[in-house]
Amino acid sequence: MPEGDTVWRACQRLNAVLAGRTLTRSEFRVPTLATTDLVGIGVREVVSRGKHQLFRLDNAYTLHTHFRMEGSWRIYPCGRKWTGGPAFQIRGVLSTAEHDAVGYRLPVMELIPSDEEEGVVGHLGPDLLGADWDVDEALRRIRRNPTGTIGEALLDQRNLAGFGTFYRSELLFLQGIHPRTPVADIADLARVVGRGQKLLLANRWRNEQTTTGDLRNGRRTYVFERVGSPCRRCGTPIRSEEFGPPGQERRSYWCPRCQPAPADLPLAAGESTT
Ligand SMILES: [Zn+2]
Repeated sequence: MPEGDTVWRACQRLNAVLAGRTLTRSEFRVPTLATTDLVGIGVREVVSRGKHQLFRLDNAYTLHTHFRMEGSWRIYPCGRKWTGGPAFQIRGVLSTAEHDAVGYRLPVMELIPSDEEEGVVGHLGPDLLGADWDVDEALRRIRRNPTGTIGEALLDQRNLAGFGTFYRSELLFLQGIHPRTPVADIADLARVVGRGQKLLLANRWRNEQTTTGDLRNGRRTYVFERVGSPCRRCGTPIRSEEFGPPGQERRSYWCPRCQPAPADLPLAAGESTT
């Protein structure tokens, strides 16, 4: 699943080719937008807000999209072959005289009045990569639920926007914190959040994310998707479990030695070492 840095980078690239240009073609393959025609409309800017994409148009409307698990926007010079997947996965096309922006597998695509953007992104906490990042507000929101786990708090986009399961796993390993540690037991929450933001910043222009500093395949993470493999620091097999609010359980990875469990933690049903 694309995380905040990936979405930020996608929007930077879309903005570079669309902002200030007039649309020469628009095509939407979602029922609610099937008859929408944006030809002749100018694009003011494309910005990310957490993991959401906002295409602000000069007709006072905003095209709102979200990648969820597998979506992407690809950019091609006009006339170049589109390579983001089979044609039936295309949800939208926005073209200028120079470029085609092609949206693949986008589960969210809607046109809303720009002054109603708050309705789709207003619930989000401070954006880790936003110009208006507010660390105190993010910490305040995380601390509203002191008995909740840090693992769930970092993924809750209402607390702070941008982290997904990749950064959650890697950040908590780097800080030596078990994912199910209660928020109230984290000694220096500001440091945890600050380090996570640094990871996002370091990766925002990269196509492949790394937290180890190594860009080679299979060496880019400490614990993420390494269940059963030896910890890079201590050799203990990495463990994994799914946990979270009912219906929103997400997979977590950790080293049981480098990230000791809280004393009263029961063994989870979904926990496994294989
Ligand atoms: Zn370890």
